[in-house]
Amino acid sequence: MAESATPERPDGRFIEISQSRPAKGEAGRTGDWRSRRPVLDAGTCPAAKQGRETCQICWVYCPDATIARGVPPVIDLEYCKGCGICAEVCPTGAIAMTPEAEHGVCDFKVRSE
Ligand code: SF4
Ligand code: SF4
Repeated sequence: MAESATPERPDGRFIEISQSRPAKGEAGRTGDWRSRRPVLDAGTCPAAKQGRETCQICWVYCPDATIARGVPPVIDLEYCKGCGICAEVCPTGAIAMTPEAEHGVCDFKVRSE
C-alpha cells in the first residue's frame, strides 16, 4: 500500500514523500490459482542455521509482502502468487519453486460452457 506523507523539516518546510507498507497480498488470495509454490529449505537458509534473523533478502523482495521475517522466514501460501522472485534473489538457493500440483492441493476448476 502506497501513501504519501509530509514530514516537517527543521526549517519548517514540508517535503512530499511516498511510503510503501507491507499489506496482505496485493493480488488478494492467490493460493488457489498459483501454479508454482516456493519451498524454503531451512537446512540451507543461514537464518535458520544460525538461529538469528540474518539475510531476510526474500522478505525484502517479495512483491506481495507475503513473507514474514523470521528464523527462517515464513511464506504465507494463502497469498503467495508463485512469482518466484524470492527464489531468484535468495543468495544461498534455499528457496525452490516447485509445481503446485506436486503438493496435492491444486484445485483448478474446469470451466464448462
Ligand atoms: S513466490 Fe516468493 S516472492 Fe513471489 S509472492 Fe510468493 S513468496 Fe513472494
Ligand atoms: S533469502 Fe534465502 S537465505 Fe536469505 S533468509 Fe530468505 S531463504 Fe534464507
